Amino acid sequence: MRPSWAAMKPVTGRNRIVGDGGILALLGALICLSGCHSPPVADSLHRFEFKQPHMGTLFTITLYARGELAARVGVEAAFAKIAALNQIMTDYDPESELMQLGRKPVGEPIRVSNELFDILQKSQRVAELSDGAFDVTIGPVVRQWRRTRRTGNLPSPEALARVREPVGWRKLQLDARQQTVTLTVPDMQLDLGGIAKGYAADQALAVLKAHGLPCALVAASGDIAVGDPPPGKRNWRVAVGKLDGNEDKPARILFLNNAAVSTSGDAEQFFEIGGQRYSHIVDPRTGFGLAERLQVTVIGRRATDTDAFATAASVLGVERGAALLESQSDLAGVFIWKRGKETDVFRSKRAR
Ligand code: ADP
Ligand code: MG
Repeated sequence: MRPSWAAMKPVTGRNRIVGDGGILALLGALICLSGCHSPPVADSLHRFEFKQPHMGTLFTITLYARGELAARVGVEAAFAKIAALNQIMTDYDPESELMQLGRKPVGEPIRVSNELFDILQKSQRVAELSDGAFDVTIGPVVRQWRRTRRTGNLPSPEALARVREPVGWRKLQLDARQQTVTLTVPDMQLDLGGIAKGYAADQALAVLKAHGLPCALVAASGDIAVGDPPPGKRNWRVAVGKLDGNEDKPARILFLNNAAVSTSGDAEQFFEIGGQRYSHIVDPRTGFGLAERLQVTVIGRRATDTDAFATAASVLGVERGAALLESQSDLAGVFIWKRGKETDVFRSKRAR
């Protein structure tokens, strides 16, 4: 069985933890929104770090606990939660709940698990707010691009039109009362690759908190969720990678607690055909992988949101993407746009 989505991604993170604590500086206004906690009592807490591969990437959990046993019990439960979510949401395993849903009769409401319903509901909200730039019905087109990446042949206009036919977030209908999902046209395929890692990071953080481990950070490549800060510190320090993947000189350091950050962009996941670079993020309006060299970092309260909104803002580009982030009171974003030899940095209002 193949691993889950983003299988070709190297296990390096675009967002990196660079150490603990520090002063509340960059993006101060936003970070205060997410709660300026007074530092917990430092004394007997020790730092632990654990890594496990999930969802085609490496998850890292960093936390503070009184002892190794408490840390291990919590972390095992958190990783088990991530594995369980992957089993529901991956499109690489034909037996996942998501893939089984795709084989149900068209037009029939299907009752789904709490987690699948929850993430689909959150996905549809971002789809609506972004006017369909974020769209989990993009599955058939993403699969087409995975083939293109393997074969090196661009799809014909007819082939592209065919796979685009069942795409459109309004073709996915949810009924909250019955907790059912209806795929309203044939050949629909859902793809949660643009939101699942953030969702898993949030859920893992919640599991750690329930185990009495609130001072924790969960990182899944470009998606990071942080809880209470390290003992004696006011924040976690997170380095946001550069557009070209060079992490020696990170673009910026963020100071965060009880918050999340996601970076979407073409630094890691791209391929070239005929000298043109294509991202694994697809523009639902054209069916093409993004060709712009744009890296978007979104900061917010929940990694589920930052993950999905970072993907959406990548599709929308600087102007409309920034407007989308500004429409949400708890989001801020930084856009790094490379055009030829020029690299420009744009910030949404709350990131200034
Ligand atoms: P990463 O996986 O590198 O963190 P993203 O969070 O932006 O990047 O997710 C990219 C993945 O999202 C793609 O691999 C694909 O599975 C899915 N996807 C691609 N385009 C879209 C889109 N327009 N809306 C929603 N999901 C998308
Ligand atoms: Mg995303």
